[in-house]
Amino acid sequence: MPGKVYAIAEHWEGRLKNISWEAVAFGQQIADVWGGQVTALLLGSGIQPLAEELRQGDLAGVLVAEHQKLKPYNPDAYVAALRQIVQEDRPGYVVMAHSYRTIDFGPKLAAAFRKPLLANCVGLGPAEGGLRFLRPVFHNKLNAAVHLASDPPHFVSLQAGAVAADKARRGCPVPVVNRQVSLEQVEIRRKQVEIVEAVKGRVDLGKARIIVGVGRGIKNQESLKLVEDLALALGAEIGASRPIVDNEWLSRDRQIGSSGQTVTPRLYIACGISGAIQHLVGMQNSECIVAINKDPNAPIFSVATYGIVGDLFEVVPALAKKLREEQSE
Ligand SMILES: Cc1cc2nc3c(=O)[nH]c(=O)nc-3n(C[C@H](O)[C@H](O)[C@H](O)COP(=O)(O)OP(=O)(O)OC[C@H]3O[C@@H](n4cnc5c(N)ncnc54)[C@H](O)[C@@H]3O)c2cc1C
Repeated sequence: MPGKVYAIAEHWEGRLKNISWEAVAFGQQIADVWGGQVTALLLGSGIQPLAEELRQGDLAGVLVAEHQKLKPYNPDAYVAALRQIVQEDRPGYVVMAHSYRTIDFGPKLAAAFRKPLLANCVGLGPAEGGLRFLRPVFHNKLNAAVHLASDPPHFVSLQAGAVAADKARRGCPVPVVNRQVSLEQVEIRRKQVEIVEAVKGRVDLGKARIIVGVGRGIKNQESLKLVEDLALALGAEIGASRPIVDNEWLSRDRQIGSSGQTVTPRLYIACGISGAIQHLVGMQNSECIVAINKDPNAPIFSVATYGIVGDLFEVVPALAKKLREEQSE
């Protein structure tokens, strides 16, 4: 029976993480098929400004659980707080991004209700008596369609980038409700010792609006200059398939795919990339995909919005030149 969908929002250093909107968008997709409305859940301490941001979503409301024990993040307090809320409110679905944090507390939360956590989903659709979720299996070679036959609450996590954050519908500001959680008896068994910053200069391709992806078709490191020119003309970031990174022509943080980053830019231009499934899973949800490949049967064309069958050594410089000309007019 349609009802409530709860989407867990995440934050870091006083800022809402983009994946929170991805969870909201996935929650909205669930509600569109199953019925009901999405409520965003925010846990922490000193997080009211984030609730202000979240309440701009097309939601039933934002539930804020503030408690000193929820800062810094620790799974004991998180699970205890969420358990109380889910027990009292009985949402049909609890949705979260598949993040380092939810990998930590999600299974424990689901187990507290003797339920499975359907992790790392990439899509959903209707099924008899509810929904069916898609999850990659066998190193992303296949998607398994899974129907949750048990009674709610159902716990589902979403692969980062599988649904773009800007797909989350916005609406009129919704009510923010402060929710008391009782955590006095909760024993915090994990202590944060140190935060180790990611290596400086790391590229976060997840935020890029335009990405020029380069693959083995580029042949050698010197020729990367061609795609760099195109990226410069477009104001784009450069991404790469795995062989480019394995050859150390570009740094590891530029790899896109199952063992790299998942991206959903407005525009992804794949230059000399064949479209192996391990690459596709990292970029196939981009809004517009342009593929440049000399092989008309390359699998990349199966996900492309526009395909250019041609030699990238001719096409890429011609595109960059045209863009520069247009910009100088
Ligand atoms: C466990 C595992 C994890 C993996 N993770 C990833 C991952 O995260 N990301 C990833 O990308 N791969 C990953 N891979 C590797 C993946 O399977 C492919 O081998 C890889 O994506 C291929 O890269 P490519 O398309 O650049 O090269 P190729 O498959 O060699 O394709 C090169 C393409 O360039 C085209 N081409 C050649 N010359 C030109 C030209 N002059 N003009 C135009 N086109 C040209 C060719 O027609 C061809 O289609 C993984 C593999 C495994 C087993």
